[in-house]
Amino acid sequence: MENKKITEFVHVDESNEEKMSAKITIQSFKDEIKEIDVPKGIVTFLGSKNGKRIPYLTKNRYSVSDLVHCQRKSLYKQLGLKPEQLVQDLSIEQMWSTVRGNFLHQMTNAYDWNELEMQYPVNLKDDKHATLHGRLDMYDWKTKTIMDLKSVTNLRHQVKHGFIPKLQHILQVQCYGTMFESYIPIENLNLVYVDNIDIVTYKIQKRDMTDWIKTRIQEIEDACNTKQIIKGEPTGLCQFCKYQTKCHTDGNGITHTPLSVPKGGRYN
Ligand code: SF4
Repeated sequence: MENKKITEFVHVDESNEEKMSAKITIQSFKDEIKEIDVPKGIVTFLGSKNGKRIPYLTKNRYSVSDLVHCQRKSLYKQLGLKPEQLVQDLSIEQMWSTVRGNFLHQMTNAYDWNELEMQYPVNLKDDKHATLHGRLDMYDWKTKTIMDLKSVTNLRHQVKHGFIPKLQHILQVQCYGTMFESYIPIENLNLVYVDNIDIVTYKIQKRDMTDWIKTRIQEIEDACNTKQIIKGEPTGLCQFCKYQTKCHTDGNGITHTPLSVPKGGRYN
C-alpha cells in the first residue's frame, strides 16, 4: 500500500562527513498537510472555458501599456467613456499584420517561463491604491533576463533609420523590471524585435520605475477627480485610438480629422 511505502534519503553531513540516513513515510507529514480550496486561478480558468465571463474592471486598474502610451486615452478609459467606432474597417494588410503578430508571438515558447502575469499594487496619495497589471513575454532564469517581444514590419528599415527601440517599449520593459523584481531575480532587460525575416535584440538598462509609475497613475487619478482633461500625446498610433472624436473636441490632442466616431451619434 502507498502509505507503507518507504523512501530512504541519504545525505552527507559536511561537518563530520558521517553518513546519516532518515526513513520518511507519508505518516511523517500527517499533521502538516491539509486540504484547501481549489486555487482561484483554476476556478477562473474552468469558468472561462465554460462561458463564464469575468467582468474587466478598469477603475483604478491599469495595464503597463496604459501608462507608456497616451495618458489622455487612459483617462478616457478610467472615466468609463464608451469606445468609438473606427470609421474605416481594418484593411486586409492591417488584419494580416495583427494575425502575423500573433503567429510571431509563438516565439515566447522559446522559454518555459513565459507569459508570467503580475498585479502590482501602487500606493497613491490619500491612502488610495491602484493596480498595475503586466504580463512578461519571456523570462530566462539562467541569465535572470526579462524579454519583451515586439513584432514589427520592415525591421531592418526601422533599425537603419533609428525608429526602434521605441521609447514606449523601453519604458514598458523597465516597468516590468520594477514590477517583477520583488518576485524573481532580474539582472537584464531585453527587447526582442521580430518581423518575418529578422530578429534584432536590444539590451535595455534597468531602472527603478517606482516613482514614474506612481506619478503617471496619480496624474490620471487626479484628472478623474477634477474632470480636467489632460493633454493628448499624439503618435502614429492615434489612427487606431477609439476616442479620436472626443480627443479632437477636447482640444490639445489630435488635430487631424478623427478616424473614429461615437457609436450611434454624437457626444452630449
Ligand atoms: S487620439 Fe491620440 S492623442 Fe487623442 S486620446 Fe487617442 S491616443 Fe491620445
